[in-house]
Amino acid sequence: MGTNSHIKVAIDGPSGAGKSTVAKRIASAIGADYIDTGAMYRAVALKLLRCGIDPESEPERLSDMLSTTTVDFRSGSTLLDGQDVTGEIRTPEVTAMASASSALRQIREKLVELQREMGRSKSVVMDGRDIGTNVFPDAECKFYMTASAEERARRRFAELSAAGARDSYADVLAAIEKRDYDDSHRALNPLVRAEDAILIDTDGIGIEDVTDNMLAYIESLL
Ligand code: C5P
Repeated sequence: MGTNSHIKVAIDGPSGAGKSTVAKRIASAIGADYIDTGAMYRAVALKLLRCGIDPESEPERLSDMLSTTTVDFRSGSTLLDGQDVTGEIRTPEVTAMASASSALRQIREKLVELQREMGRSKSVVMDGRDIGTNVFPDAECKFYMTASAEERARRRFAELSAAGARDSYADVLAAIEKRDYDDSHRALNPLVRAEDAILIDTDGIGIEDVTDNMLAYIESLL
């Protein structure tokens, strides 16, 4: 532990590994803020779609947009320029745009700066792809959560089916594999396990047990 009284918990891993469920529970148990960095990339992607900006071919419009954009969290909701966009950032269009646009330097620099600011004065549990490697290389506690693509696709498929979506299991698995590939092969801050991150494989393990084990470890540090 550093000399500060607040702590940073970094949770990285591919999509569908259960990061957000675990991160929310840990944050509430230790009295920290939960920061969903994926929601921040999604909020920027939503704004790109709304403004009709192609971020790769229009760097100046992108830069103007970013300089006037705010992304924040309030009581579990994601705010884009002060407006609640929690529901809107979960559509397939936004997911695809977030995955593509998160590879761009301008966007990463803006959001990483905001993320570091959020962790400056209070305890945070932050989940994403590059928290332990890039945003907070000095985090007191780092986890890398994963599960096989098939297990993650099964969980996602069950969620989508319960919500009435008609996607097939094969489509869901293909989308997960594509996102894994893109996230781990981009040049800037790719998804990779930090050397000092604890590996958590959630294949076949209930999320309660995973959370309890992670919490016990964090509490041993406090
Ligand atoms: O975690 P979630 O699926 O909401 O993230 C949406 C997208 O944002 C991911 O596909 C990934 O490309 C990007 N992302 C990122 N770095 C993070 C968090 C998310 O590049 N720290």
